Amino acid sequence: MSQNPDKTPADTPRRMRPCPICSKLSTTEDYPFCSPRCAKVDLHRWLSEGYSIPVVETDDIDDPDTDTFTG
Ligand SMILES: [Zn+2]
Repeated sequence: MSQNPDKTPADTPRRMRPCPICSKLSTTEDYPFCSPRCAKVDLHRWLSEGYSIPVVETDDIDDPDTDTFTG
């Protein structure tokens, strides 16, 4: 029997990458993001990119029918 002192990889801490969304320090829970929010943002970005959904917010809707309001 020979017990060789093997180097435990757990001894070396993992390199924490910065969050790709806000460049903050990522956490082990939401790796590689810093928070579930950033993970959601990335997911949304990925989805929008895949579906190519134009993100256009049009609050002002021109309704020609409202022209008949004059009476
Ligand atoms: Zn973040």
